[in-house]
Amino acid sequence: MSVRELVVLGTASQVPTRHRNHNGYLLRWDGEGILFDPGEGTQRQMLRAGAAAHDLNRICVTHFHGDHSLGLAGVIQRINLDKVPHRITAHYPRSGQRFFDRLRYATAYRETVSLTEAPVDADGTLATTEAYTLQARRLSHPVESFGYRLVEPDGRRMLPDRLAAHGIKGPDVSRIQREGSLNGVTLEAVSEVRRGQRFAFVMDTRLCEGVHALAEGCDLLVIESTFLDGDERLAEEYGHLTAGQAARVARDAGVRHLVLTHFSQRYTDPEEFERQARAAGFEGELTVASDLLRVALPKRR
Ligand SMILES: [Zn+2]
Repeated sequence: MSVRELVVLGTASQVPTRHRNHNGYLLRWDGEGILFDPGEGTQRQMLRAGAAAHDLNRICVTHFHGDHSLGLAGVIQRINLDKVPHRITAHYPRSGQRFFDRLRYATAYRETVSLTEAPVDADGTLATTEAYTLQARRLSHPVESFGYRLVEPDGRRMLPDRLAAHGIKGPDVSRIQREGSLNGVTLEAVSEVRRGQRFAFVMDTRLCEGVHALAEGCDLLVIESTFLDGDERLAEEYGHLTAGQAARVARDAGVRHLVLTHFSQRYTDPEEFERQARAAGFEGELTVASDLLRVALPKRR
């Protein structure tokens, strides 16, 4: 059974607190691991969460503020120390190439792994695999920031009653799936579209077109809500979202499970984020993230 889950490594914006590490999120998607925004301390948080350097296939950085990228130095050195045998690809805003270079070569170490640099400079598709298409969309923040979105291709769900009605069974089921028709019966006649799952990672940004585009129809949306609604002016000024804004985006986009994170250290009561998200009319599953939490992708509809 393939695993699709989010492993939350850290949830603090700007500075870590006694209870929250800097950001860090590992998405397990079938056999792959995608690490988003490794802030300071990510290497150790991975250890605590039971994730190894070998689990990583991609690293996606939204922007080069420290809470989203200071962990790159440690994680990249660990990938090399552990001599990870498979290819690892890093995506990050091309405008921050000099920051990536510095973090990648922050100190001396023996480089054993060829990390592929795949910087992002425009909206669009970054990679296509059998399991997903990875897309980027520009966000709105004082430094250039891109959000990421994974879209699984649509598949087809076989309908047992239709198969039975056409007398298709046993090995013929995989044959019609493979070949598209069998003895004049089309695949469409015995199956329906099974929509691919969608995941998005939106951080750091004020409200903009990219936020809505990334969130559209997501099964699981991880989105920053740095501020509570009372501090909406600060959010706008510093290029962030409030709990209510993030929840309204999710509501309008038909998100099934909303994960709020990247909290300012000024707040002490996480439940207030939940109350404001509900007050904003979001009715799906809601998680106010805490470190080392695991969130499964919602079951297929
Ligand atoms: Zn941040």
